[in-house]
Amino acid sequence: MEKVLITGAAGFLGSHLCDRFLKEGYHVIGMDNLITGNLDNIEHLFALKEFEFYNHDVSKFVHVPGDLKYILHFASPASPIDYLKMPIQTLKVGSLGTHNLLGLAKSKNARIIIASTSEVYGDPLVNPQPEEYWGNVNPIGPRGVYDEAKRFQEAITMAYHNYHGLETRIVRIFNTYGSRMRVDDGRALPAFFSQAIRGEGITVFGDGSQTRAFCFVDDLVEGIYRLLMSDYHLPVNIGNPDEVTIKEVAEEVLALVGNEKAHIVYKDLPKDDPKVRRPKIDKAKEILGWEPTVSRTEGLKRTFEYFKKVVK
Ligand code: UDP
Repeated sequence: MEKVLITGAAGFLGSHLCDRFLKEGYHVIGMDNLITGNLDNIEHLFALKEFEFYNHDVSKFVHVPGDLKYILHFASPASPIDYLKMPIQTLKVGSLGTHNLLGLAKSKNARIIIASTSEVYGDPLVNPQPEEYWGNVNPIGPRGVYDEAKRFQEAITMAYHNYHGLETRIVRIFNTYGSRMRVDDGRALPAFFSQAIRGEGITVFGDGSQTRAFCFVDDLVEGIYRLLMSDYHLPVNIGNPDEVTIKEVAEEVLALVGNEKAHIVYKDLPKDDPKVRRPKIDKAKEILGWEPTVSRTEGLKRTFEYFKKVVK
């Protein structure tokens, strides 16, 4: 059986990727240090002999015995409040962690895909964002620890590709949602669902006119799988281009949850919060034959089923 290492395995995306690779017939080694991940997300996998779990921080030397076919580096705090709370760990996992995993990939002759982000575009001055856009990032702002770690991650990944001839893939992930997001991770959809279910104020930051484009997790996982299996080594945006204002999304969640006590409350806009964000996905369409298939209406419905069960 071919082996795959997935870092951030107990996280939102990592756990869905573990499911996918097991379904594809791989032996999956999940790795996570559980600072933002949650074992509940992979509890169902521990009974499988094709799954192993290492509780390890990838910013320290990573050892895995035997052969590896693929490495998926998805470990990182990923929500603005998490990387504000853990700025050094966020920088380390994107930089030192990526370096360790590239070294591991080289020693195992494995192909590696690294999880980059739309945050490499910062507060973008062009909308939608094509892969050729270089971004507008404040290196010393609150988001700098994440954005710059991910930009460094792309740079070192390209260096391993160009210098060592390593098989590398870079996915730039835009806002994604679905089951296994942490209820208290502070991101828009977990916040809105938990507040709406509890009948609290829905905290819209600023006037809610900033935009995002939300991709349902199943679509994202499909895009990542196809990119890893492709022969394309430059960065590819994976996300849903259906752009919407944050206020509209808050209203959609309110209507879906239907709790009459819930209502929108406006809070200050965090510093450097991007005003617009929307992926240009022509490359993914052309190279991977991929585009999202789950509408926001359908995706929000499925996500509500999950939050209903986990919000206390
Ligand atoms: N946001 C909000 N209320 C919240 C959490 C987030 O209005 O309780 C806004 C946030 O200011 C941003 C957007 O929703 O404009 C998406 O935020 P998120 O933290 O999900 O991720 P980002 O795309 O900013 O990295």
